[in-house]
Parts: sequence; C-alpha cells; structure tokens
Amino acid sequence: MRQRASISLFHGAGQPFELCERNIPTPNTDEVLVQVSLATICGSDLHTCTGRRTAPTPCVLGHEAVGRIAAPTEVRDAYGEPLHEGDRVTWSIMAACGQCEYCNKRNLPQKCERLFKYGHAQSAAPHFFNGGFAEQICLRPGTAIYRIPDTVSDVEAAPLNCALSTVLGGLTTLEPVEGYSAVVQGAGMLGIYAACCLRERGFEIVACVDRVAERLRVAEAFGATHTFNLSKDSATEIGDALHDLTGGRGVDYAVEVSGAAAALVNSLDWVGVGGSCLTLGYVFPHADVTIDAHQIVTKCLTVRGNHNYHPSVLGDALRFVEETRDRYPFEDLVGAVYPLVEIDAAFDRALQGDLIRVGINPTVEGDAF
Ligand SMILES: [Zn+2]
Ligand SMILES: [Zn+2]
Repeated sequence: MRQRASISLFHGAGQPFELCERNIPTPNTDEVLVQVSLATICGSDLHTCTGRRTAPTPCVLGHEAVGRIAAPTEVRDAYGEPLHEGDRVTWSIMAACGQCEYCNKRNLPQKCERLFKYGHAQSAAPHFFNGGFAEQICLRPGTAIYRIPDTVSDVEAAPLNCALSTVLGGLTTLEPVEGYSAVVQGAGMLGIYAACCLRERGFEIVACVDRVAERLRVAEAFGATHTFNLSKDSATEIGDALHDLTGGRGVDYAVEVSGAAAALVNSLDWVGVGGSCLTLGYVFPHADVTIDAHQIVTKCLTVRGNHNYHPSVLGDALRFVEETRDRYPFEDLVGAVYPLVEIDAAFDRALQGDLIRVGINPTVEGDAF
C-alpha cells in the first residue's frame, strides 16, 4: 500500500490552492479509505473559494466525488452488503451520529447534531483526508456508501451525491401532483436535474428560467418544455406566459435553485392556488429577501426549504441515472476535467460559469480532457 498521497489545501478566498502530500492513514475498522477517481466542483465550492461563505482552513474542498475502495474494509454499504477493496463507490456528503434527536426521532440525519460534511472540515491531524480534491479520502462511520452500477460512469455518478440528491430530496418533501406544471429557476446542475426529474414524474409543463442562453439549451436536452431568459424577458412577462400555459392558474410547483434573491419573489408570483414553492438555492448566509406574504396565505401555498438530504436519497439518485441515462446526456454535464495539479485552473474555469460542471481527476498526472 502507498504511504503518502496528494491533497489540495484551500487557505482562504483569493488564495491559490496548496498542493502537498500527507501520510495515508491506516483506516480504522469503521472507516473506508477511497482512491478518488473524479470529484466535481459544486456551486458551494465556488461560494467558498470566492468568500461568499466561509470554511475552516486549511480545508480540502470537494464533496461530489467517486472512487475505488483502496484498502480492505469491514464496513458495509447502505444496503448492508459487505464492501470490498476495489469496489467503485460514492457516498453521502455527510456522516451522521445515528443517536441524536435529529438522527433518531426526527428522521433528519442530514441535520445531525454532530454532523460531519466532507469538503467542509479543517484538514488537520489526524484527519487530513476529508475532501474530494485529493488522491484519497477517508470515509467516517455514519456515512452511507453506495456501490456504483457498472453501467454508470464516473462522470455520470460524481455529481449525484450533492446536486441530484439535493433535488430528489427536496422534491420528495412536496405534495405529489401528477402530470401538471412546474417552473424551475436556475438552469445549473440542480435546475437541469430538477427538469428531468419532473419530466420523469410526468409533469406536462416544465419551464426553466435562467440568464444564460447556453444553460437553457442544455435544460431543453433534459426535459425542459419551455425556457425563459431573464436577461431578455421580465419576471412579469414570464409570469404572464406561465399563466397562459396553465389556463390562467399558475404553476403547481415553483422550484428555486438559483440562490437569486428575486427567485423566491418570482416563485410566489408564478405559483397557482394550492401550489408548492421549493427553495434549495440559498445555501449562503444573509440571503435576505422581501416577499409579499399575503400571497402565501391567500393562495394557500406550501413553501418548503430543504438542506442536505436523507442518506437513502443517494440510492434513489443512482437508480434514477441508471434508469434514465439513455434518455438524457448526463455525461455532457461535466464540460472539462483537470488533473489535481491544475486545481486553480479548474476553479477559474468553473467560475466562468458557462460549463455546468468542471471535474478534477486526482488519479491522473497530466491533462485529463
Ligand atoms: Zn454540493
Ligand atoms: Zn445525529
């Protein structure tokens, strides 16, 4: 077994990543050591590296990740099956204690009182291997680990444990409706996943709203039936169009994944009587929004927020992609992959905003693609 492995350290907004090596720990019997084969840069990694939210430093960022188990283990997967060295796996973005009020009584292990989140913790002795932008990661007890089906590629699987699981977890909190209408605000990774999830649930109208035309084109390939560009059409014009599309009622679901302050205002405007507004995008502090709460009352609305996800949802996410990958070009969502030594360039590329996802492959030395 190798003695040392590379990690990238985030030291604070505006500073370059530091690449260094650390001794690989011998995993305890309840831990799993994984050789990372792909980690994608999530929007929250970008929030951290631009200073929109803080992280304890130094920190190995990256939580959307896949890899192969790198050492013998006695740990079992989320279904209770034994795991083996060499298995290709993904895992919940967090580890929960299984014993606290939220874990035991409220079915919210994602809000565990002792929650640990990969890619958000300080990299310090003895836990250096906490994040995905590193050759290896050490998975802790309380992590839900899933084997990846052979038919699902690393590129398809890496964003599932954050982006798709967040969307699926959020949608399951809403009152089910069949075959009706939804608007999705934000056509990044979450919005695109939301579009195809809603289409697969039989929604007849899935409108996507963004300011970037290229993202809206991608959304069309993922089931968006209508797209609106906020840099061309006003919120009022989009609302009028949605009313026309829904016989004057307004949409059944308004799903906000953009984090834009106006998106919640728009959701309340665009949703119809008895509808649901799901908000997932405000994952940074001080997302102050002024709303007309009169609409919540008089339209009998449900407004739901959701953060992280129940670990079982990651199993649903893997199944969703396995079953629908013939219908949607999931592989195209990762527009570029960089080796770990080029992590600064990878973040610069991701910050340009035109690619849905940028990946980092820590196991290749030179150019990836
Ligand atoms: Zn994420
Ligand atoms: Zn707990």
